[in-house]
Amino acid sequence: MSYLDLTITDMHEALVAKKVTPLELAKEALERAKANNDNAFEGYMDEQALSIAASLKEPEVNNPFWGIPFVIKDNFATRNFPTTGSSNILKDYVPCFDATAVAKLLQAHAVPIAKSTLDELAMGGSGITGHKGPTFNPYDSKHERMIGGSSCGSAVSVAASIVPFALGSDTGDSVRKPAGYAGLVGMKPTWGRISRYGLFPFAPSLDHVGYFTRSVEDAALSLAVIAGRDLEDSTSSTRPVEDYTRLLKTDLKGIRVAVIKEIMDTITNPTILKAFDQSIVALREAGAVVDNVHFDKRLLGTIYPTYITISCSEVTSNNANLDGIKFGPRFEGNTYQEVMFNARTAGFSELIKRRFVIGSFALMRENQDVLFLRAQKCRRKIVDTLNDILKTYDAVYLPSAPTIAPKFKDSHDQLSDEYLIADNHLAFGNFAGLPSLTLPIGFEKGMPLGANVMGRAFEEAKVFQIAQAIENKTGYRNLSAKEVRV
Ligand code: GLN
Repeated sequence: MSYLDLTITDMHEALVAKKVTPLELAKEALERAKANNDNAFEGYMDEQALSIAASLKEPEVNNPFWGIPFVIKDNFATRNFPTTGSSNILKDYVPCFDATAVAKLLQAHAVPIAKSTLDELAMGGSGITGHKGPTFNPYDSKHERMIGGSSCGSAVSVAASIVPFALGSDTGDSVRKPAGYAGLVGMKPTWGRISRYGLFPFAPSLDHVGYFTRSVEDAALSLAVIAGRDLEDSTSSTRPVEDYTRLLKTDLKGIRVAVIKEIMDTITNPTILKAFDQSIVALREAGAVVDNVHFDKRLLGTIYPTYITISCSEVTSNNANLDGIKFGPRFEGNTYQEVMFNARTAGFSELIKRRFVIGSFALMRENQDVLFLRAQKCRRKIVDTLNDILKTYDAVYLPSAPTIAPKFKDSHDQLSDEYLIADNHLAFGNFAGLPSLTLPIGFEKGMPLGANVMGRAFEEAKVFQIAQAIENKTGYRNLSAKEVRV
């Protein structure tokens, strides 16, 4: 066993007891990152990691992140270190500032190890569209299965026990979906709870900072470190940061959990259904009331088109600054238009171009009513329905996906209910800006399965409380892809 295999809480104990030093952890994390063959990294931060780690001498007993190695998704700005968004248009771009989430981790004396791969500019869910090619699921040594995206490299870093914590971003499900495919806890809190300053914008009305850990306790502990009001991000909440671990040891008496029947009906995988049922038993044993609730199926069918219309509209306008002049490599051309044309032609992959076309089309004056505004109305209806459920229930609980991590060569019917609803319902949490956490609940063919707890706005502590009851029962804590399971 290496101390690097521990969760943050256990690693912290070992650091405080001086059984291991931050420098030893940083060196080993860098070694593991470089030895990993899942294509998870954009760059290794040797210089920063080793100098920060070497400067940490006396353990800080009350600071759980002191000396803890971590990985950063490459769409968070890092001062003096290339930040590419896994896109050719930002190749070699070196920011002159740190994103606030990164700065807070550095202030807590955590040690950055590497920048991780993502679907290009965080658009996508398969981990294949980044400029370095596909990122693989470490649970599948044959490299046939994806880990999911867009936060693919960060998910690998934690699942392969390279670090116990990695930053990700979540606009539709980009932390919570890969977490489910990789046996991890993936958390995105309430919209505005964590500052997004320095996170490259995708669709700001849906964008959240999120993160991966290998236990619910670690997830609860981490939030207090990176949450909080930030004057650099006017959308960050002014609510005080809480002790998010405070309910972890409390049972679930008085807690009401809703399972949406029409979403469950679109899931057919018997292993997932069985593992999910067992986790409901765990919730009931811990004292919760769990009920089936209803949600208009036609409305559920609008989740994905609504998400695509709104996110593509927002991203095409937010990424207008990626013109080949302000950031990244210079492309040839005699006029501004020519440089921009060449930069955007060579700099973006097909998927990005397609999304810009969809977004621009939805925003054209003649289309706005039928596309963009209609999508906004659907979003409102979905959010209202969800908030109605959350008037009587503390949380909504569902499988995070209808399958284990798909194979790269698998294709799915994009108009099926399974795809439109079961594969995309996590976007709920982004439409409504609600705290939402995925955690492991089982395995099929050695691949992990996840479920998701979504709570009321700013009730993160309760989301952790519910998730902890499930983790206590399954025992799926600190899972690592290094161990094979069936
Ligand atoms: N999979 C979604 C998409 O394709 C979500 C991406 C995200 O959350 N960043 O856009």
